[in-house]
Amino acid sequence: MMDKELFSNEPDISKVKITDPFWQNRMEVVRTKVLPYEWEALNDRIEGATTSHAVANFKIAADLTKNGLVGKTGKGTTRTEGAEAVDTGEGGFKGFVFQDSDIAKWLEAIAYTLTWHKDAEIEKTADEVIDLVCAAQQEDGYLDTFYIINGIDKKWTNLKDNHELYCFGHMLEAAVAYYEATGKDKLLNAMKKYADYIDRVFGPESDKKHGYPGHEEAELALVKLYRVTKEKKYLNLAKYFIDARGTEPNYFAEECKERGVKVPSKEDLAYHQAHKPVREQDVAIGHAVRAVYLYTAMADVAKITEDEELFAACERLWKDITTRQMYITGSIGSSHVGEAFTFDYDLPNDAVYGETCAAIGLAFFAKRMLGIRPKREYADVLEKVLYNGILSGISLDGTRFFYVNPLEVVPYKDKMDARFRHVKTERQKWFGCACCPPNIARIMADLGSYLSSVNGAAFYTHLPVGSETESEIAGTNVKVIVTGNYPWDGDIEVKIDPEKETAFTYGIRIPSWCDRFEAEFNGEKLNSDLKDGYLTISRTFKKGDVLKLTLSMEAKVIEADSKVRADYGKVAVMRGPVVYCLEEADNGKDLHLLSIDTDTVFGVRKESELGGIDALYADGYREITRDDDRLYRPAGAREYEHPELKFVPYYAWNNRGEGEMRVWVQRR
Ligand SMILES: [Zn+2]
Repeated sequence: MMDKELFSNEPDISKVKITDPFWQNRMEVVRTKVLPYEWEALNDRIEGATTSHAVANFKIAADLTKNGLVGKTGKGTTRTEGAEAVDTGEGGFKGFVFQDSDIAKWLEAIAYTLTWHKDAEIEKTADEVIDLVCAAQQEDGYLDTFYIINGIDKKWTNLKDNHELYCFGHMLEAAVAYYEATGKDKLLNAMKKYADYIDRVFGPESDKKHGYPGHEEAELALVKLYRVTKEKKYLNLAKYFIDARGTEPNYFAEECKERGVKVPSKEDLAYHQAHKPVREQDVAIGHAVRAVYLYTAMADVAKITEDEELFAACERLWKDITTRQMYITGSIGSSHVGEAFTFDYDLPNDAVYGETCAAIGLAFFAKRMLGIRPKREYADVLEKVLYNGILSGISLDGTRFFYVNPLEVVPYKDKMDARFRHVKTERQKWFGCACCPPNIARIMADLGSYLSSVNGAAFYTHLPVGSETESEIAGTNVKVIVTGNYPWDGDIEVKIDPEKETAFTYGIRIPSWCDRFEAEFNGEKLNSDLKDGYLTISRTFKKGDVLKLTLSMEAKVIEADSKVRADYGKVAVMRGPVVYCLEEADNGKDLHLLSIDTDTVFGVRKESELGGIDALYADGYREITRDDDRLYRPAGAREYEHPELKFVPYYAWNNRGEGEMRVWVQRR
């Protein structure tokens, strides 16, 4: 039964100030390095980086629109089956069919930064981009440069592959974020017009198309539009897209027949999560990013419409991902074939896909689940993916990115072997398919909205990130100030400052990785009863109330369930939420020869390298290998050297040049 009291509001991001020593610096890197760098990339001004053409596409589309030439140049291409980059020559569209979304995500990230750092110059650039985007919009509201340039008569003919509704969703998210950050509604109005048009084209009525997005994204964006406009039709359209998916007759199959191309197999439909209605799905399947964007929207709609059946589907899919298909880093998507989930416990460390966007999507899903019900398991995964699988996607200086996030790298192997061609052994400057870099920028810039939620008359701190949050609880303005040096130290202080004495509940998550904790409130020791993994205090709070919490932070040797074949006989090292790895830079080559005991005791040293880390040191073993020209020989007793091993946080790997890395180490 869903508890109506628990339908939460996210804290208004404009009232969250991040003061955290770990994240504040990274958010500044996003603002001062990543976003300016991305702007150069989107304008094709970075030497040696893959071409984007994203801004150029909008310029071309805007010119055609201005001159009344859309669909009249006779230059339209029939190439609309696009899973590959398109290049229609000088003055034509270049890039992927979803290239517009790169601009959208950049704009959205800019909007979030403006909420915590006003910057007139960057706002001016964003306004100009918005002018350009709006100049490409068609009279009816349609806005997709691929079809505007390549053949507008073919719009909506290939929802399965061509991402129009995906690009719409991203630009809509940008519009909502920019409106909320600046109060400027030009893009919001343009996207409302586009949403109204889409609402006229799609829906259950017999005179409308019964389609839905090939790549989910419009659904969650329409929920945001509903939240900001309170217009129910946008929520209904999101719900329609969710519920139409996978029903019979299958829209994607019908669409393919119409175009005279091969009808998708059951597997093809599963790639799009369209093999059966979403309410009947219980296995996370297909393209991992699409899947988690869909589940995010399902949770949104379940919450707003109090739809228990839909929420039950979300819970089943959540459980399937997090207990059978997720890496220790929070990465998801085990295979590069279809960038997809595979099957239970299939988690190869070297051939992994683990797209940064999929990790980000899992954080979206976790945040929505927390919004419905504050439960430790949701926040644990959110934390895991933020500190590991997402953060690994970006270099410490903010100018290099991983698309694929491997947990084991041997550079020469990954380069020689075509099976690992998707694995890059160093972060890249940019990508032809550049979904990940702007995605990481937008989630980091929006970090403030992930830390806590107000659920009914209760404030919950999900992640103890240093921050000051103002929100309304039980009718009173309450400031919650979290300080500490997380994730390195377990001492956390929370000041709870209501404007006037007010009765409510305050809860803070005790992470599942934490064995022992101590808590005191205004100097008095609290008992350690937890509710859904949260330490909660229900009382009348007054100005100056202080909660002090100490979490035990020992480094731990972790094993995977024995069903995970790739990790069998191996162990990983974690301290707090941070997953560690071995790198060649510290431990030499042939990391597969290294092993540790399960009862290893780790030394912790604060180091200034890699942006300031707690490095872990431990006595380990390196097998002394025999070189006698035999590929095979009778097994003999092993001999070992006893080096001191150094472990560094996984997110920080590959910031000291190319080299071997592994998370899962041989267990002695
Ligand atoms: Zn991506």
